[in-house]
Amino acid sequence: KRRQQIDINTLGQQLIQGNITALSRGITLVESENSNHQQQAEQLIEYCLPHANKSVRIGITGVPGVGKSTFIEAFGNHLTSLNKKVAVLAVDPSSSISKGSILGDKTRMEDLVKNKNAFIRPSPSGDSLGGVAKKTRESIILCEAAGFDTILIETVGVGQSETAVHSMVDFFLLLKLAGAGDELQGIKRGIIEMADAIIINKADKDNVKRAKMAKTEFQRALHLYPPKASEWIAKTATCSAIENKGIDTVWEMISDYVSQTKANNYFEANRKEQNKYWLIQTIEHHLKSNFYQRKNIQNLLDELLQKVKEGLVSPFSAAAKLLDEYKKLK
Ligand code: GDP
Repeated sequence: KRRQQIDINTLGQQLIQGNITALSRGITLVESENSNHQQQAEQLIEYCLPHANKSVRIGITGVPGVGKSTFIEAFGNHLTSLNKKVAVLAVDPSSSISKGSILGDKTRMEDLVKNKNAFIRPSPSGDSLGGVAKKTRESIILCEAAGFDTILIETVGVGQSETAVHSMVDFFLLLKLAGAGDELQGIKRGIIEMADAIIINKADKDNVKRAKMAKTEFQRALHLYPPKASEWIAKTATCSAIENKGIDTVWEMISDYVSQTKANNYFEANRKEQNKYWLIQTIEHHLKSNFYQRKNIQNLLDELLQKVKEGLVSPFSAAAKLLDEYKKLK
């Protein structure tokens, strides 16, 4: 026990000095499913917490192929040219199945990978979104403690992962492509509601005009949504990640957002709300995985699922039996 304590403090010390090896080791602890490692990770996070928090956290989403990695590469390099230190993390619950559909292949961000002021970490794997999101959320703290002041969190534009990322960032950016004039079709309302900016990518060559039209359409649509608690009015813009055009505008937008929401105190208030949310999320995740990991529960669950299927037991009394059994376990 005592030895562990010392090791973690040493690791923490190295980490807050900006040692990248220590940061990587820390994140490996955070991502580990081993309960010993998880304890160490908790200690490390406690150690780092006073040194975290001084950052801007930006969520980036969009469907596969929209240009997320190309954008992050251009945006990340722009940020480091402004003397920022950029960490890129990801939330991709499918990565354990598909072997990393995002950020898995680091060659997609060739330049940024070589950049000394950038740190790129692929999505942790896990069998549930809750687990993956929790790990990324904890990694944010470690990156910040290591001196990264701009955190980019990529997620793929399918499923529930946007909501998870939205709940861990200050600013949420939606990347889109110009369609055939039916821009709003097929986009989930919730995603637009979460977006602080909608950026139309691939505004280059003969696509510039269509991109501008899409921008106008989104801008118009955004007016139909209720005002945000942040009092920020969601913005739209076009960019070309590949030609590095409009990238600086995106950062100016985010800087405006940060000054505005710091002035009206939303920035801090939102982070506090997010902390409350994550406390509850962590408990729920823990209870759930603890429940399903128990051998007794697994056996009884199999048995009762069969009985429910055969109509011998109602789902409610089966659930009650399982919960009773769980209460008996310690
Ligand atoms: P992701 O799946 O969202 O990460 O998308 P990628 O960044 O991998 O990009 C998908 C494809 O679109 C690649 O072939 C990129 O070269 C291309 N692409 C990305 N950004 C742009 C852009 O601004 N303009 C054009 N014309 N192509 C782009």
